[in-house]
Amino acid sequence: MTTEFKPDPIINGDQRQPFKPDEYQPLGKPVFIKKETALDAMAGDGGYKEAYLGDHLRFKMKREGKRFWAGDNISDFLHEGDKEKLIDEATEAFELVLDRLLIDRENDPNSKGTARRLAKMYFNEIMAGRYDPAPDATSFPNDSTDRYEGMLVVRSELRSMCSHHHQPVVGVAYIGLIAAQHLIGLSKYTRIAQWCARRGTLQEELANDIAREIEKATGAKDLGVYIQATHGCCENRGIMAHSSLTQTTVLKGAFKDDLGTKKEFFDNIKMQQEFAPR
Ligand SMILES: [Zn+2]
Repeated sequence: MTTEFKPDPIINGDQRQPFKPDEYQPLGKPVFIKKETALDAMAGDGGYKEAYLGDHLRFKMKREGKRFWAGDNISDFLHEGDKEKLIDEATEAFELVLDRLLIDRENDPNSKGTARRLAKMYFNEIMAGRYDPAPDATSFPNDSTDRYEGMLVVRSELRSMCSHHHQPVVGVAYIGLIAAQHLIGLSKYTRIAQWCARRGTLQEELANDIAREIEKATGAKDLGVYIQATHGCCENRGIMAHSSLTQTTVLKGAFKDDLGTKKEFFDNIKMQQEFAPR
């Protein structure tokens, strides 16, 4: 007697099939089959059962070669309603962290809802820029005879978080550009900068990210981004330096190559700082 060969649907399933959120059924309790090793990670699915939406999404991103570092936006992989599920799953994980820290979250009234507060804060506030799509920045034409040809400098207040210690990074970004064929609303510069900042970042990377996104939104090739920020990881721990300030600069096009443009940008920043010292 011969048995017809049936390929294992899990091993041989079509991995490119799109994830359908309504087909996702959480098991209701955590299932840790085995710890993921580096070899597992290279093999793909790490040996976890996909009991969690978070695991499912992680494996999907690995399979598709999508980078999901702390500073990366992964909104393309999320469907409507996923964030709420992910918050539930992160709440469970933060509960475990509090338990491991030996904090009595059953009796301490201040610690009762902390796990959920932390989960919501990460997804909706301090790391919202990872999960939310880019703010839409409608552009207006700037191509008539009386088009604006000067330099535009926008000061954007920033709140970010260092990906090493998850400590706050607080500061301002100055975004300068010579307008190209179109302009975006003034508040959009800050919205884009804040969307880039609300992730786990390095200040050096953040300056690059803002410059890249502003270039995408405006088409401007001549632009500069200057960030001044204090870092909780230097103030609250480690060297405990209370007045340390980190400055990063990214210059492109005329801002980089033309000394006059560069000087005008930094003169503008000085004037802004006189108007609103940070
Ligand atoms: Zn840090």
